[in-house]
Amino acid sequence: MTGTLAIIGAGPKAVAVAAKAAVLRDMGIPVPQVLAVERTAVAANWQSSGGWTDGNHRLGTGPEKDVGFPYRSTVAPRRNAELDDAMLRHSWQAHLVATGQFAEWVDRGRPAPAHRKWAQYLRWVADNVGMDVVRGEVTSMGVDGSRWALRTEMDTESTTINADAVMVTGPGQAERSILPGNPRVLSIAQFWHRASAHERITAERVVVIGGGETAAAILNELFAHRVSTITVISPQVTLFTRGEGFFENTLFSDPTNWSGLTLAERRDAIARTDRGVFSSRVQDALLADDRIRHLRGRVAHAVARDEQIRLTLHTDRAGESLETVHGFDLVIDGSGADALWFTDLFTQDALDLIELSLGGPMTGERLQESIGYDLAVEGLSPKLFLPNLSGLNQGPGFPNLSCLGLLSDRVLGADLTESADRNSRRSHEHQPLR
Ligand SMILES: Cc1cc2nc3c(=O)[nH]c(=O)nc-3n(C[C@H](O)[C@H](O)[C@H](O)COP(=O)(O)OP(=O)(O)OC[C@H]3O[C@@H](n4cnc5c(N)ncnc54)[C@H](O)[C@@H]3O)c2cc1C
Repeated sequence: MTGTLAIIGAGPKAVAVAAKAAVLRDMGIPVPQVLAVERTAVAANWQSSGGWTDGNHRLGTGPEKDVGFPYRSTVAPRRNAELDDAMLRHSWQAHLVATGQFAEWVDRGRPAPAHRKWAQYLRWVADNVGMDVVRGEVTSMGVDGSRWALRTEMDTESTTINADAVMVTGPGQAERSILPGNPRVLSIAQFWHRASAHERITAERVVVIGGGETAAAILNELFAHRVSTITVISPQVTLFTRGEGFFENTLFSDPTNWSGLTLAERRDAIARTDRGVFSSRVQDALLADDRIRHLRGRVAHAVARDEQIRLTLHTDRAGESLETVHGFDLVIDGSGADALWFTDLFTQDALDLIELSLGGPMTGERLQESIGYDLAVEGLSPKLFLPNLSGLNQGPGFPNLSCLGLLSDRVLGADLTESADRNSRRSHEHQPLR
């Protein structure tokens, strides 16, 4: 377990891997050098600067599902108890104790923290473990011999970071919008920018495109604005509530039996518990607000006409595709989250290498089905860890915050040595990372 692991994005996944690597290193166990490349700041997507929240909305999962959760390490044979014990020093509760907030949090009934408090926690861990963060936006991913070459831009400067393995994190770009530049259409980032500036949104008919956590947070905020009706458009039959009982939660924290399920059973479990579903807290608020309705379908296109935005919707009805048109005064395009956002970064040589491992053109389905136990694309060297696409093969908790402690085990337990050895033999050809 040596070499360099570069992580695109310094969010919770990067912090979890960096924290476990630091603890293992302190225990004298060799680990790769972990480096996060971040375009904004550590935990940016949990603050208004990241464009996905104004920072005031609350975390859906419990904060005890922190960077070490579920504290059942397997990566240090015979020393896992010691590892878990050391990881507890980076837990949510350790953060509250260290910052004098623990008793108040307990006395208030252990509330879900606001996103910005979650960001403070993540930054606290990153600082404590001395996480290595390079500021810059990764704009392309190529291969250089047997290593990744990440082209990274910051202001006007461009550098190349070489690494033996790369892990991709994050949901993509919050700036995406179905009609860019139209003032009646807001991207996720534009919506949160207005909310953080305390700008009141006033409109008769508002539509939010997209289900899931992103749309849920937007709806939660919209309740406080002057809008007459809010329509949520998503492809699902209705707005499902996430099952948050013990059995559903266990699927997320403990993927032990996941790989024993058939593909159909796994897809069904994900559809019921994860994709496009709202947490019960958001659903309670939705029920209480009679301005909300749901429209089933996929938005095919949008045009501006007569001071309205007309959305054309495709809906499957009994095997036939039905096309309907609906007019709105304001559209909030909450569909920006895209687990495949990074695929635009690959250079042709990287794409060729990946398609060779996949045995065909790169599609979302092929990538998901190729993810191995270590959360990387099977058979691909240099390693490419894709936890956000690992749900189907490895367990639904890996793309989110449900088992960050297991995620770090799987990634740090991976064998990077093959490519690292080759690299050291060819080191005269390559620049060291930093
Ligand atoms: C509003 C909202 C609420 C959510 N609430 C929950 C919840 O309660 N529980 C849960 O389990 N999940 C929740 N999620 C899902 C959440 O996205 C994931 O669980 C988790 O945050 C993903 O962590 P991450 O480390 O992959 O990425 P993120 O925290 O999203 O971090 C990605 C980072 O990558 C950076 N970045 C992006 N592109 C580049 C680039 N090209 N170069 C360099 N840096 C880049 C960004 O600036 C960002 O800091 C929520 C999502 C949203 C949008």
